[in-house]
Amino acid sequence: MKKHFYALAVASLALAAPVVAQQRMAQQPALDQLQAVQNRNCATMDVLQAQLATDPAMAQRMANIEAQTRVFEANPTARRGTSATVIIPVVVHVVYNTSAQNVPLAQIEAQIRVLNEDFAKTNADASLVPAAFAGAAANTNIQFVLAKRDPSGNATSGVVRRSTKTRSFSSNDFVKYTSKGGSDAWPRDRYLNLWLCNLGQGLLGYAQFPGGAAATDGVVCLYSSVPGGTASNYNKGRTATHEVGHWLNLRHIWGDATCGNDLVSDTPTQQTSNGGCPTFPKVTCSNGPSGDMFMNYMDYTYDRCMYMFTTGQGTRMNALFATGGARAALLTSTGGIAPRTALSSAPAYSLFPNPATDVLNLRQGTTSVNASVAVYDVHGQQLKNVRYDAASGQVDVRALPKGIYRLAINDGQHLTQRSFIKE
Ligand SMILES: [Zn+2]
Repeated sequence: MKKHFYALAVASLALAAPVVAQQRMAQQPALDQLQAVQNRNCATMDVLQAQLATDPAMAQRMANIEAQTRVFEANPTARRGTSATVIIPVVVHVVYNTSAQNVPLAQIEAQIRVLNEDFAKTNADASLVPAAFAGAAANTNIQFVLAKRDPSGNATSGVVRRSTKTRSFSSNDFVKYTSKGGSDAWPRDRYLNLWLCNLGQGLLGYAQFPGGAAATDGVVCLYSSVPGGTASNYNKGRTATHEVGHWLNLRHIWGDATCGNDLVSDTPTQQTSNGGCPTFPKVTCSNGPSGDMFMNYMDYTYDRCMYMFTTGQGTRMNALFATGGARAALLTSTGGIAPRTALSSAPAYSLFPNPATDVLNLRQGTTSVNASVAVYDVHGQQLKNVRYDAASGQVDVRALPKGIYRLAINDGQHLTQRSFIKE
């Protein structure tokens, strides 16, 4: 089943599934929608295989991260203090082709809230964890905040909105490039990049593991998977929880192999992915009596049926933030801190001649000033009969009696006051 989706997801291998391709040409919209509601489908491992094939050095980078993780796991004193919470600034790239895909801020904020609850074990459904696994359920001490400062240091809402002509994206990472109809990543050492877009081929999302390229670092989710979205059974925001888990180096809980290894010690070995909402216990791979941990965020179950990370998964993720960890730079990111409101320095205007008899010229450098200008007398009365012509940059002062006047120049960002004399 996964190979089938692999062929769909990786365009370069499309020739591996000619029959499916023909079906898609005939009934693409229906097929996309059908797959989207039928089963969770995450392309993270497919993307990883494709990246390893084109970037041979990536395997060594991932091996180094794995070695650092092993050292961290084996040495509790090397771990960050349990009280220290990592706060990760998030930039959400909303890449939309239709207004429905232009996810409102309220739903983006709800998504961040779900991430924070799930990673802190404050999710309401944490109480549903079976007693057999309750001891393993963990607060990971990792939290998320919409960026308040952009890479240039300016204030931001943490949301980048880009209209696109692309009706449907795939796991080929085009959504991560403005030049390809998407939105360029912000620096990964300061932000988690989260793209929301219309993913085709029944994909709910995919992530890039630590060790990949900077330009494509982050997480992509189907726009309708956010809380309150239209992806039935997958619209409580758990796709982002799952994908951010990958971004923080978690593997699928079944280890992407039959009775495989997810590199975490306190998750049971299980035969394969679970879908829908299994009944507890579901015993496979001799993992009785408690069976599969199908309620783990790294399985493939419905959003309402997954509600825990384990202590071991939390430790694995936190290794990235230890000294030498692959994502440790995020600890010193200021992306989540609003920039101090800069005291705007007044523009350097020049007024001449001063004193003036007929016209007063207003310049910024050598150009006329595009601003609204009001003239006041010494009593603070505005003189409505005095006009400023922005095109010529001149104030006609012929109608003014001799005296001292004040000019208020408002360019939309600064209000600047200057005095002049009419002779
Ligand atoms: Zn996944």
